[in-house]
Amino acid sequence: MADSSFLKPPAKKRGEPMFDRCPEHGQFESWLVEQFDGSWKANACQQCRWQALNWQHVAEATREAAREAKRAELVNQRLIESGITPRFRGCSFDNFEVGGDQAKRTALESCRRYAEDFDAVVREGRSQLLLGNLGTGKTHLATAIVQAVIRQHAATAIVTTASEIARAVKATFAKSSKTSERDVLDELASVDLLVIDEVGVQVSTGDFGPGLLHEVIDRRYQQVLPTILVSNMTVEELPRFIGDRALDRLRQGSSRMVRFTWTSARGDA
Ligand SMILES: [Zn+2]
Repeated sequence: MADSSFLKPPAKKRGEPMFDRCPEHGQFESWLVEQFDGSWKANACQQCRWQALNWQHVAEATREAAREAKRAELVNQRLIESGITPRFRGCSFDNFEVGGDQAKRTALESCRRYAEDFDAVVREGRSQLLLGNLGTGKTHLATAIVQAVIRQHAATAIVTTASEIARAVKATFAKSSKTSERDVLDELASVDLLVIDEVGVQVSTGDFGPGLLHEVIDRRYQQVLPTILVSNMTVEELPRFIGDRALDRLRQGSSRMVRFTWTSARGDA
C-alpha cells in the first residue's frame, strides 16, 4: 500500500505502566493517543467498549457514553489528520477579532456560513476563495472552517500549502518512494474538504507551474468536492499559479470569493 503523504494519524505511545486493569475483563495493554489539544489520552478497556456498543441489555446511558467516546476518538483523529499546525489549532470563529470593522465581519460571517451550510457545500461542491493581504487572518478562518466541519460532521479534511503539495509530488520521484504522483493526487481528492493555503507565495509550486494545482483542483471539481483556496494574490493574478480553467472551476455556481482587504494585524501570515 502507498504511504500517505498528508493524512497522518495521531501518534500512539506505550502507556506507563504498560498494562491497565479492567475490573471485569482483567489486564489490557495501555496506550496513550495524541490529542489535538496537545495532550495524551489513555485507552479504556476495548471489551467494555464493544459490549456497551453491541450487547442488547446495556443501559442506554452506558451505550450513549460509549458512542460519544467513539465519536470523540474519530473527531480527534480527523482533526490531527487534517494537518492543522499547532500554531493554528486554537483558531475558531469566536476568537477571530473583528473590532468594529465591517469588512472583517463580512469575511467572518461568510466563512461561518460556509461551515454551517456544509451539507449543501458538499452536495454542490461549493468552493471558496479567501484572498487578501498577508496577516489578515485568512488562515485563521480557513482552519476555523475545517475544525468546525470536522467537529460537527466528522468530515475528513486536509489543510496544506501549495509548496507542500509540490514537495509531496517531488518526493514520489525518489527511487525508494512507495508512493506515486497519482497516489498524492488521489489522496488530495479523497477528503470532503481540501484547503490549499499560500497559493502564489515565492516558490509555491516551483518547477511544476500552474499545471499541478490545476490538476488537484480539477480532480476535486470532477467529483463535485469543495476546495478552499487561500492566497495573497488578487483574483487577476491567480491564473499564473493555478491556470485559467481551475479558477473558473473554483468560481462556479454558488462559490464565493471572500476579500481580506484590511492591513496586517501582525506583519506576518
Ligand atoms: Zn472491560
